[in-house]
Amino acid sequence: MLVKSSTAAIRVSASFPHFNHARKNQFDTCMHNFLNPSDGAILPAMPRKPFPESVQTEVLVRCRRRCALCFCLDQDLDEKEGQLAHIDAPEDATLGNAAWLCTKHHARYDSVSLQTKGYRPSELREYQQILFASVESFERRGSKKRSPAGKRNVGGKRPVVALEVYDRRLPIYQTTMQFVREVVSDLRPELKLIMRFFADTDQALFLYDDSIAGYLDELFKKALRLHTVDLMRTSMRTDDREPDNFMALVKEQTALASWFIDQHAEIRARFAPFLRMP
Ligand SMILES: [Zn+2]
Repeated sequence: MLVKSSTAAIRVSASFPHFNHARKNQFDTCMHNFLNPSDGAILPAMPRKPFPESVQTEVLVRCRRRCALCFCLDQDLDEKEGQLAHIDAPEDATLGNAAWLCTKHHARYDSVSLQTKGYRPSELREYQQILFASVESFERRGSKKRSPAGKRNVGGKRPVVALEVYDRRLPIYQTTMQFVREVVSDLRPELKLIMRFFADTDQALFLYDDSIAGYLDELFKKALRLHTVDLMRTSMRTDDREPDNFMALVKEQTALASWFIDQHAEIRARFAPFLRMP
């Protein structure tokens, strides 16, 4: 094999007088880097297929021009100037490959070499789902009108509730207890679980009052944060980035975990006045 290829090289050199071995080595190095991006090479820029209007609109509407990396990494939910980024393959212009990123994060996401870059496509996809879920929750909770139960119960104990109301309130209490139980079981809540809790407690504002609705919102947001922190910490561990940030994440994760562990008693205390039977 070796003999064959060196013979071939000699033949090529002989038939092409300008053949230059130094340039061939350069070419081989380039090809090697291209084929082995883990060596730290920056992949050559591929032409990006523009996103159709419908995809652009859907992403912009769902994220309300909030940047997924700003929100998940820095908890910054301000509207941002930015662009629609290709999460992964530049030729893929479908909805699943589009994310709205602020100018700073877009430049970083697109330009850093594979070895040193922080954000992987799978990571950005998750962050984007977290952002979509959060925006949806803020919109829905924010648009709810105050329920009659939201009026302050001035003076004295909360009155006993009719059986019909009790029957409708109880499932929300049970769902909340079950949710916290599941979060505490491994302290790594999946997005699916968090969104199910959000949907299942959607009616809470009409059946309880603002304080319970606010508390359910807090549970939802803290679970989302726990999910995000776990995601950030896991992806950091794989390439040992920024040890200081890593320690800060571990600290935050521990604080969230112990907060959730305390919530069983908190839920009982908060819901009890609403579930007093005649
Ligand atoms: Zn950003």
